[in-house]
Amino acid sequence: MKIPAEKIKNLAKEIGFSDCGITNILVEQEVKKFYKNWIENNFNAEMKFLENEFEKRFEPKLVFPKAKSVIVFIINYYYKDYSSEEYKISKYAQGSDYHSVVKDRLRQFSEILKQEYLDFESYEFCDTAPVFEKYFASQAGLGFIGKNRCLISPKFGSWVFIGGIFCNAEIETDSKLDIYCGDCDICIKSCPTGALSSKGLDADKCISYHTIENKNEVPENIRKKITNQLFGCDICQDSCPYNKNPIQTSCVEFLPQEKVYNLDFEELANISNKEFSRLFKNTSLLRAGRKKIIINFENINYNRNK
Ligand code: SF4
Ligand code: SF4
Repeated sequence: MKIPAEKIKNLAKEIGFSDCGITNILVEQEVKKFYKNWIENNFNAEMKFLENEFEKRFEPKLVFPKAKSVIVFIINYYYKDYSSEEYKISKYAQGSDYHSVVKDRLRQFSEILKQEYLDFESYEFCDTAPVFEKYFASQAGLGFIGKNRCLISPKFGSWVFIGGIFCNAEIETDSKLDIYCGDCDICIKSCPTGALSSKGLDADKCISYHTIENKNEVPENIRKKITNQLFGCDICQDSCPYNKNPIQTSCVEFLPQEKVYNLDFEELANISNKEFSRLFKNTSLLRAGRKKIIINFENINYNRNK
């Protein structure tokens, strides 16, 4: 079955994706080697799930045996940062949790195609499967992977979520963009903990990792570098020249929610975990959890009062 690329791209626009590109299912050996080294260097810290299903990340047919093409989508999420200078919430987390928002749109996309192409079969992913999404996005011409390890779209900067579909259709592929970071190393220099290098992002040195994923105590050398990062860290993105003139999102689900950017810490300290889950349902804050956010708050105040 063949589907015209133009049809795919028009449908992506109608559904509300910011951009869409198509690529094949082959993954370059160099990419696999880079990832293998990254894991061997323990740059994934305690995120052991990144070591699982290693081969699947580089072989889409192990995830979806009928895969012939990869359709990749980005949605721009940038909106004015409402979190206070004292307690910063990473911009991606101020609206609704992107996993469900993007996945809903991907499913909608596939359902519409299935109505016209009865044999169309697909597998949707958005940070929900062992898939190297940034790689496929760059192969599909949606941007390039910057030294801050984010996908950078020339139009939307790195303020984008990526979603994709493996499908059994043959579709004309897009070309890679011919833009890179070049000599720029602003993000590497701006990172307060030295987490970025040519070997990739060392999660064990990254404030974002330590304020969200790390379930243990934050090491002292990292903790003392935390100034106002309550959930995540945007420094290496804020400093990137491609992010200087961001385009505001038109996706209402990503508009900042006051309960997230203006957290009531007294309330947080007094509610149960169950109540926290109810209050912050459908937001990324659940990933860290109530206790972690309280600890992050205490760490910021500890440094401030020293
Ligand atoms: S998120 Fe923050 S700590 Fe992590 S690499 Fe970027 S600037 Fe460094
Ligand atoms: S700051 Fe410079 S080096 Fe870093 S991602 Fe942006 S363009 Fe690339």
